[in-house]
Amino acid sequence: MRAPGSTMACVTVDMEQDCPPYLKTWRGVTEGTPVLLDLLAEEQVPATFFVTGELARRFPDTVYRILDAGHEVGAHGDTHANFGRLSRGDARFEIDRMTSTLGGMCRVTSFRAPYLTFPEAFVPLLDEYGYLVDSSAARYKFPGARVSRVGRVVRVPASVTSSTLRWPAWPRDWLLSHLSEPAVIFVHPWEFVDLTQARLRYDCRFKTGEPARRCLQESIRVLRRRGARFIRLAALSNTSQDRAQ
Ligand SMILES: [Zn+2]
Repeated sequence: MRAPGSTMACVTVDMEQDCPPYLKTWRGVTEGTPVLLDLLAEEQVPATFFVTGELARRFPDTVYRILDAGHEVGAHGDTHANFGRLSRGDARFEIDRMTSTLGGMCRVTSFRAPYLTFPEAFVPLLDEYGYLVDSSAARYKFPGARVSRVGRVVRVPASVTSSTLRWPAWPRDWLLSHLSEPAVIFVHPWEFVDLTQARLRYDCRFKTGEPARRCLQESIRVLRRRGARFIRLAALSNTSQDRAQ
């Protein structure tokens, strides 16, 4: 039962190489993820980490560290390809490969497409592979996006884009206080590495590093003051996650 007046909020993390397609490094995994895990532990927030199959094969210990900290691991494609540019056969290949990698590590039931782009016609593929939550739509791209269901898949849109959390406090906090439920925010681990001098788009690199950590902490506290209860996305489908034996 939810407490009267409480709302649901989800912190989600998209795990891939650093700021694709601009960089080919993995500093977010090795340097940013420990910072993020410490912050989530300090704030006692359970989160959902969407991990690419490629990342899980390169850094399995990171995936197990996320699971052992009590967070949910979801899927984020295999190679971080843009599903909007894939044929149905190639989309199936991506889903098949990510599921076989991540499914060997834990039960995976949540999915977010890279670049928050996932054609509706592909949603039945998620259902076929056992996914129960799809967080690939984005309210900031399609303001009409709402929680909906396709087959067994509950579609839960992301509320705001990741760089929004690094805005100045006043407009950011006003926006966070007015999100419709469930508030789904997302970050990338590379945002917690100082990339201010990297050759990146400004919205990717501004206030990265320690300022981004502080911004996420303040955002969590703003949502909590509004009465938010933090949940893993899988909770919206009433499933739990078991580590593979
Ligand atoms: Zn991504």
